[in-house]
Amino acid sequence: MATIRDLATDQTNYWCPGCGNFGIITAVKRAIVQLGLGREDVTAVTGIGCHGKTTNYLNVNGFHVIHGRVLPVATAIKLANLEQTVIGFSGDGDSFGIGMGHFPHAARRNPDITLIVHDNLIYGLTTGQTSPTTRRGHMTKSTPRGAFEEAVNPIAAALASNASFVARGYVGEIQQLTDLFVQALSWEGFAMVDVLQPCVSWNRINTYQFYKERVYKLEEAGHDPSDISQAYERSLEWTERIPIGVFYKRKRPVYNDNFPFLEGEPLNRRRINDADITGLMKEFA
Ligand code: SF4
Repeated sequence: MATIRDLATDQTNYWCPGCGNFGIITAVKRAIVQLGLGREDVTAVTGIGCHGKTTNYLNVNGFHVIHGRVLPVATAIKLANLEQTVIGFSGDGDSFGIGMGHFPHAARRNPDITLIVHDNLIYGLTTGQTSPTTRRGHMTKSTPRGAFEEAVNPIAAALASNASFVARGYVGEIQQLTDLFVQALSWEGFAMVDVLQPCVSWNRINTYQFYKERVYKLEEAGHDPSDISQAYERSLEWTERIPIGVFYKRKRPVYNDNFPFLEGEPLNRRRINDADITGLMKEFA
């Protein structure tokens, strides 16, 4: 079992002081400890963006991938070793820009992985251009007259793609965020937690104060996470009030259940030289 200290690395942290990424990594470490996992039991996959440094700062198995490819790599790692708890970390650009082609397919396949979206509603690493979740009208470096495109709604997109666990957290509510990560990491299937993560350097609109004035907890509002209509309705709330918590969860078959050969010894531990492929050759050759 890992401790919080075990999960720290000796790398210098280059995130801006006050960045919401600190809240995410703190909550993830707490969730790993609460679940009694060892460092070697967890694999973190990160994409491109400020969140990508998570593999430097979280002392578990790590895989830093090319832009937008967190989900296919995380899925493959899980299939290769079903004993691993696989967490994909991805930004709003990485998930819903270049990675958007993978998102609905991961959600509908339902691999047993967690996706944590560092959603700061802007491109932070490249110094403040619009991202796919930037709200319409937001003035940024790339949109000096205000963003004129409608924003992607991660919660509605996950629901529409049949994700089996859909949640939103906020780094200013660290206890609830930890609890959401505990639920997501222990969920059998694809769990997405979209995390509101203020970028203190480049997003002057969606600040800690902005969220403090708006967020409310679904579990305190009588929300029923088994009701997809309610989940859709809540997913559209943003301007006045912003819901955080579990929007929707529904148990359904997990992707790896479709592959009987995955039963037993994890693929990564099997000796390839001992594999008998005679049956396969007869079937396909
Ligand atoms: Fe965080 Fe924004 Fe700084 Fe990136 S640029 S580390 S998202 S505050």
